[in-house]
Amino acid sequence: MLKFGGTSVEDAAAFERVTEIVRAERRAHPVVVVSALSGVTDALLASVEAANASGLAPHFERHREVAQRLLDRGAATGFQTELDEARSEIDRLLGRVSRDRAAAPQLRDEVVSYGERLSSSLLAQVLAARGLPASWVDARRCIVTNDTAVRAEPDLPETDRRTRAVLGPLVAAARIPVLGGFIGATAGGVTTTLGRGGSDYTAALVGAALDAEEIQIWTDVSGVLTADPRLVPHAHTIPTLSYSEASELAYFGAKVLHPKSIQPALVRGIPVRIVNSRAPQDAGTVVAAEAELWPGTVKSIAHKSGITVLQITSARMLGAYGFLRALFEVFDRHHMPVDVVTTSEVSLSLTVEDGAALPAVVEELEALGEVRVEPRRAIICVVGEGLRTTPGIAARVFETIRDINVSLISQGASRVNLTFVVEEGQARETVTRLHAALLEGAVVGQAERRKVPRGKRSRSARPAVSPSDRWTVEVTRRLIDIASVSGDEEAVAHFLAEHLEELDYNVEFLASAPGRPGLYATTGAAPRIVFCTHLDTVPPFFPSSEDDEFVYGRGACDAKGIIAAQLAAAGRLRAAGIEELGLLFVVDEEKGSIGARAANGHAGARECRWLIVGEPTENKLATGSKGSLRMALRAEGTGGHSAYPERGRSAIHTLLDVLDDVRAIRWPAAPEFGETTCNIGIIGGGAGANVIAPDARAELHIRLVTDAAPVRELLERAVAGRAKVEYLSATPPVRLTAVPGFDTCVVGFTTDVPHLANWGTPLLIGPGSIHDAHTAGERISKAELERGVDLYVRLARSLRAEPAAAEVRG
Ligand code: ADP
Ligand code: ASP
Ligand code: MG
Repeated sequence: MLKFGGTSVEDAAAFERVTEIVRAERRAHPVVVVSALSGVTDALLASVEAANASGLAPHFERHREVAQRLLDRGAATGFQTELDEARSEIDRLLGRVSRDRAAAPQLRDEVVSYGERLSSSLLAQVLAARGLPASWVDARRCIVTNDTAVRAEPDLPETDRRTRAVLGPLVAAARIPVLGGFIGATAGGVTTTLGRGGSDYTAALVGAALDAEEIQIWTDVSGVLTADPRLVPHAHTIPTLSYSEASELAYFGAKVLHPKSIQPALVRGIPVRIVNSRAPQDAGTVVAAEAELWPGTVKSIAHKSGITVLQITSARMLGAYGFLRALFEVFDRHHMPVDVVTTSEVSLSLTVEDGAALPAVVEELEALGEVRVEPRRAIICVVGEGLRTTPGIAARVFETIRDINVSLISQGASRVNLTFVVEEGQARETVTRLHAALLEGAVVGQAERRKVPRGKRSRSARPAVSPSDRWTVEVTRRLIDIASVSGDEEAVAHFLAEHLEELDYNVEFLASAPGRPGLYATTGAAPRIVFCTHLDTVPPFFPSSEDDEFVYGRGACDAKGIIAAQLAAAGRLRAAGIEELGLLFVVDEEKGSIGARAANGHAGARECRWLIVGEPTENKLATGSKGSLRMALRAEGTGGHSAYPERGRSAIHTLLDVLDDVRAIRWPAAPEFGETTCNIGIIGGGAGANVIAPDARAELHIRLVTDAAPVRELLERAVAGRAKVEYLSATPPVRLTAVPGFDTCVVGFTTDVPHLANWGTPLLIGPGSIHDAHTAGERISKAELERGVDLYVRLARSLRAEPAAAEVRG
């Protein structure tokens, strides 16, 4: 039994991958269940909502394109006729909806069913065109349900019987039946659907009816992961799950599996395998009766948002017979499933999904007692067979999130889960932290975990870095390992863009120079606080490594560790419901700041109130960064034979005298910035050791604590016309904003800050030391990195909470 989800049939390439997977399974007499092409069910539902088919055109086009590419001309024309018929039938149904809104619920299932009807017909034809003996079957002949709209319940014995009757002979004749998931029909022939994600359920029903050897769920991830990858990008595959574990995870939000798809498999003892159609070689996850007890005891963390908590308090509860029944009858009448229930002596709390029926339910409950409604909550569910037997897990869970408000704690009846409720805005943070604390020591790999007996493991019990710090370290290393010396920033920009999209940001590439994109990521809310640093590094590239204390590699502190810290901080802020954030990563900071200059013209700048620029300041908030004045001094001489120095004039001798006098200058100091400093970085000139030097040149870099003017005056006075002074660039010192509660410093280096003047008030802070930057041993301390994340979070919070509290000095 093979089931392909919508993401496995999104386009022609995906259909081709599916064909090869089916071909590989051919000997096992497979039956194929397929979802609608990804996005189609949503579009069909929206068309019913709007009573208008205009949004469907691109989806019809997608089907047409697959047919055109993969079917021969005759078959493609035939499929086009099917599409046209579907289109006019949908138009007719939507016309009825717009004339009679009350009819919408009944007609909705009929309209939505076209997603799976078309995808299954198309897949059957594609398989046939590639030489596989596929036969399309209308799923409504097999799946028999009641008439509940949107979420129909199957009649199990009847579904079993019909499925066997329809599919059995085909399988016996070595045909490969292909049917749409998700849809069914009542005994009277009215089309129904099994609820969102219901194709998994169809697969389980069909697999159970045919007593399949295995039910394979082909999707876009390599199995059930330790957490939702949209929240925890580095979540990893769980090799095996028990049926109970899988049910709990699916029930509490792990979308990869429909919650009802486990029961039919469990009843017949059929293993369910979750596999990746884009990486068919990956083993994926097997769900079966027996699952190992992992030493870690926790296997995965699920979450489900859009939850409302209802608390009903009534003195009648005390020993009153019939009270609970009356209470649950209210939910029954409204077809409202209750997820988690906890009771105390006089009150009962439970969770339901947000929905239109809620106000009516609350009103009826008020007849039974006092009702408190807490909307916008999320259920968090920690799952693992080991929870049955291992004491202390709950304590560890709650210790990890001790500063997060938790309510409604329940240990599921199956005892493989620990479930509780948090505010919706804190779901991401809760899952991320629990994952770090409970599941990230495991990155070593499950294979090792299974093979090495407990007592023999040599890894020290206490890692030098706590697991929660691992995320930032991992991201830092991945960023370091993508070389991005100034001029070569494209690969790292693309990697980051993808990563940010996975983390649910809107990402825009910023044009600055060809092949050198910067990045600007936003959340959808107006970005009031923008984290900013640079993508480029100085040469030469060297890859990452680490020991207990440090991460090494080019860019470790300047500025890839900082990028990772800013990502982590933004993630934590978002987890706490703070969305007015942006992330700006520019190119060329190490050279001429082309990226920052270009970004300064970006329209988003106007929305930004605070720009938090990251450079290695040892986690201190820079109240100032010195300016810079770069110049060249050129001396000229008259050449001649070195044996007769009196006959010429050596440019080198002149330059040395000039430089001597320059070194003797007493430069200005400024209380807030410290000293002006002058570095003679390069000297050169001359024609040969036995020639009086005709020319000589030096390059100087002065760090300014004042305007350039007084410095230039002092310099020119010292040079006194003996050498030509050529100014190469000048950047004034910058005063920066201080915020109470942060250690401060003044930095001697320059940054992109002066070039980003349109982006609100700048602040400058970041983990790592400038003394490690640009060196052959560039590194960043892991502890400092993690503290950097904390500080970024704290800084953003204080800027957001009390803009007036920030003492603006610049
Ligand atoms: P399909 O179209 O194949 O049915 P779904 O989108 O329904 O795919 O389910 C797969 C998605 O489920 C993944 O892409 C992932 O975003 C999400 N998901 C949520 N929690 C988990 C989890 N614990 N493990 C794997 N995937 C998860
Ligand atoms: N196409 C349906 C949905 O999007 C069913 C499924 O894909 O499982 O919900
Ligand atoms: Mg699905």
